[in-house]
Amino acid sequence: MNSNELTSDTPIMAFAQLQLADPLARAVSEMGYETMTPIQAQAIPVVLQGRDVMGAAQTGTGKTAAFALPLLQRMMRHQNASTSPARHPVRALVLLPTRELAVQVAEQVELYAKYTDLRSAVVFGGMDMKPQTAELKRGVEVLVATPGRLLDHIEAKNAVLNQVEYVVLDEADRMLDIGFLPDLQRILSYLPKQRTTLLFSATFSPEIKRLANSYLQNPVTIEVARSNATASTVEQHFYSVPEDEKRHALHQVLRARGMKQAFVFVNSKLGCARLARSLEREGLKTTALHGDKSQDERLKALDAFKSGEVDLLVCTDVAARGLDIKDVPAVFNFDIPFNAEDYVHRIGRTGRAGAAGLAVSFVSGNNDARLVGDIEKLIKTKIELEGLEFDENLPNIRQQGRINDGRRMYAHDGEAGGDNGRSAPRTEGRGNREDGYAPRAPRAPRSDYARPPAPSRDPFFDKPYEPTTVADKPAPSWEATARPASRSISANIKPKRKVAALFKTE
Ligand code: AMP
Repeated sequence: MNSNELTSDTPIMAFAQLQLADPLARAVSEMGYETMTPIQAQAIPVVLQGRDVMGAAQTGTGKTAAFALPLLQRMMRHQNASTSPARHPVRALVLLPTRELAVQVAEQVELYAKYTDLRSAVVFGGMDMKPQTAELKRGVEVLVATPGRLLDHIEAKNAVLNQVEYVVLDEADRMLDIGFLPDLQRILSYLPKQRTTLLFSATFSPEIKRLANSYLQNPVTIEVARSNATASTVEQHFYSVPEDEKRHALHQVLRARGMKQAFVFVNSKLGCARLARSLEREGLKTTALHGDKSQDERLKALDAFKSGEVDLLVCTDVAARGLDIKDVPAVFNFDIPFNAEDYVHRIGRTGRAGAAGLAVSFVSGNNDARLVGDIEKLIKTKIELEGLEFDENLPNIRQQGRINDGRRMYAHDGEAGGDNGRSAPRTEGRGNREDGYAPRAPRAPRSDYARPPAPSRDPFFDKPYEPTTVADKPAPSWEATARPASRSISANIKPKRKVAALFKTE
């Protein structure tokens, strides 16, 4: 093995062995960390030595602490209580592809640094620059940012990067997917050449290797997991369930397992909003999280989930990408994802950092069975389909399911105009790429189900998700607009309104 390469065989160590500065050790122990995760055990000593690192590790492996703790440790010599901004220049820069990831990493950095005098801040697009500017002007040692917004701040001279000593390119593969390479190149050109650079990526594609060759110096390569591996701590079940029984099945599993909180994944934003509404009516505190939600709404939904105000977070893949919510006990694949890789990402929300997790997938029909075959190939594990016994004491949700079933074909509309295949390009500049939309090749139309003409974009999705009660459930606006009148009314049948008018007596 090359001396620059480490594998997950490296022994796992206790945090106490690291001899972190007291304020950092205190924060770590307060967070309940005792043993380092494999990426931490491997990366922390190397970063403490000041070496560059190329790390293959996914979100959920403890990678944030793997870079944040040694960087904070090395910056301790700069900490000071002065109020002068000049005494708090940016010394560490952490770049991430999406706002959600940036917020999550910044939250963790803040927790680790809470007993130090080192300051941190986060800047990302899609939000007013003013509060971010004010924070930058006060001076921060650790700046967490998405590339586009950071460039805006550099251009506005709010962020000065000539004293940066450490750079982290986190989720580098996704930054390249989104098209951030030119922005990254510009940002890196502003930084001092003498620095430590850490690059983390789920995979080491040729592009990532090129990036590393250009910007890292003699890096130590650390790999902790195969990119498509699912955590061994996640218990995975695939239940064969008819389409119209899926909600019933969801209630059944939640009840049988005594579970309170879960992520429920669906394949389209329309399906997402609709399922959230149905589950809410059925008594589960539910919030929808999909690509049409504003940044503010997404953060609120996450907060509500984290605080336990909400039990179920129904989400699409794009909306959930990069979300770091600790200890989600279960992930449901209400729809089997079209891409097998999304299965791995979805179930990565549970069973994180060694905790036990549950991943339940509902398989219905031949299409789903084919998709399960793809997952089987990807994760290299034989998947057995299981039956599910229903507890007849559960409220009968099947009837409602059948009503929905009649509309099922509309649930796929989001696929074309939705999260993964945005039909209209967004035109508001680079800030928008920070939503986490990795551009993908448009999907080939599926021939195995009928697709009605795409409905026009509906203002329903511009509003925050509002739960409705059984007593108060107006027909959703998409129902009024989704179906062209010609489909439901034959040309031979006169509209009712006109017939009534004929009989009208004055
Ligand atoms: P990350 O991969 O950095 O997003 O971390 C995933 C989650 O694991 C975060 O919520 C961390 O708080 C948690 N975590 C990180 N390191 C440890 C550790 N050594 N022990 C327990 N939990 C950890």
